[in-house]
Amino acid sequence: MPELPEVEAVRRSLAPFLTRARIADVDVRRPDLRAPFPTAFRARLVGRTVRALDRRAKYLLATLSSGDTLIVHLGMSGSFRIDPAAGGAKAVSAADRHDHVVFSLASGAAITFNDPRRFGLMLLLTPAQLARHPVLSRLGVEPLSSEFDAAALARACRGRKTSLKVALLDQRIVAGLGNIYASEALHAARLSPFRRASTIATASGAPREAARRLTAAIKQVLTKAIDRVSGNYRSSRFRVYDREGDPCPRRNCSGVIRRRTQAGRSTFYCPACQR
Ligand SMILES: [Zn+2]
Repeated sequence: MPELPEVEAVRRSLAPFLTRARIADVDVRRPDLRAPFPTAFRARLVGRTVRALDRRAKYLLATLSSGDTLIVHLGMSGSFRIDPAAGGAKAVSAADRHDHVVFSLASGAAITFNDPRRFGLMLLLTPAQLARHPVLSRLGVEPLSSEFDAAALARACRGRKTSLKVALLDQRIVAGLGNIYASEALHAARLSPFRRASTIATASGAPREAARRLTAAIKQVLTKAIDRVSGNYRSSRFRVYDREGDPCPRRNCSGVIRRRTQAGRSTFYCPACQR
């Protein structure tokens, strides 16, 4: 299942082809993915120019010259394939039955959406619909944005009696931070997943040292993961996630990684160095 780093890597690979590109044709090869395609999907896309390709949590947002926003969620298995010189949608072979949508650009490039499990989602929203979208309008701060700092995280966690790990998975606190990277960031910051979220803030909501360490760790873990999934460097995948029973990777720590279920999700942590 793609998490934030995978979605951001997809955005970065598509952006050079899609930004300022005119959509010449759209070939929609089935009526639905997780949900039906929007009405007049093709008609509202063809002839439009993509103004910008952004990401919000795990959603890709293409702003169109019409004012509409094309929203794509990759679901469990969605991916895009870029053919820089395909020469039209019809030229993209239908050999793969999981190629569900082909966007042909005026440049001659084709962008194909492939999704074997069909949990993906495509929406086309007007500015008013975008502003009141039930998921997007409630998302918290983006972890890689400059607005996400120790003060913002402490404010959001102030007075929260829930555990820190569960708070990090709350999309209203941090947008798009998934189970894997929450565990990784807590280990990097040497913070126990089980401590109360409120302990990173003072009573008035000011950031404690723990909030500074955690904010830096979240940014670092996500940035490294984006580099890794973009293929920029090879590194071992995770330091604690899915490593139950392994020695703690922290230098000078003799702890052993444990797994515990927390709010229905697996948490991996080192009981020796995470407090
Ligand atoms: Zn440790």
